[in-house]
Amino acid sequence: MQFARVKLTGFKSFIDPVELRILPGLTGVVGPNGCGKSNLLEAIRWAMGEGSAKSLRGAAMDDVIFAGTATRPQRQFAEVSILATRDDDDDVEVVRRIERGAGSAYRINGRDARARDAQLIFADAATGAHSPALVSQGRIGAVIAAKPAERRAMLEEAAGIAGLHVRRREAEIR
Ligand code: ATP
Ligand code: MG
Repeated sequence: MQFARVKLTGFKSFIDPVELRILPGLTGVVGPNGCGKSNLLEAIRWAMGEGSAKSLRGAAMDDVIFAGTATRPQRQFAEVSILATRDDDDDVEVVRRIERGAGSAYRINGRDARARDAQLIFADAATGAHSPALVSQGRIGAVIAAKPAERRAMLEEAAGIAGLHVRRREAEIR
């Protein structure tokens, strides 16, 4: 699976609609502190079905919606779209949208879908939202500094990927 395009609107510091093309090969995101690099990675993980507000540096899911600044009012919704190309299947577009106070909804290739459906699409090839392929800022230091019990919890989280693979196989059989 290859991510080809990401579109964001109202997600954290991405107030106005932004469209990013992702070319084959390694992609780097560079910029000054606070410009939104981590927010971009969080937007991708969120659209992939991330269910934990805390792992997106928020207290509640609505915290991903642009909260307003001195010069711009807050937004009422956030939306992120990922267009991915697949080796053995058609291209797929996954869109997640959240309305303030009303929760999230997903669309896959234009049709209503569940969080689970979005998660299963990315469960493949170590690309899931909790995949070790996506390492959040501070995470490496956190692994090194963790107490044994915390490190065990991290390993169990990583092992959750195996479960996701199993559920995907089940879904394909059904
Ligand atoms: P660093 O290089 O320090 O890691 P970064 O490029 O990763 O920086 P981010 O953490 O992505 O920066 O962006 C931080 C900015 O995003 C802060 O200015 C913060 O106020 C803003 N931000 C986060 N959530 C929201 C929100 N819901 N509404 C508006 N702005 C937000
Ligand atoms: Mg950062």
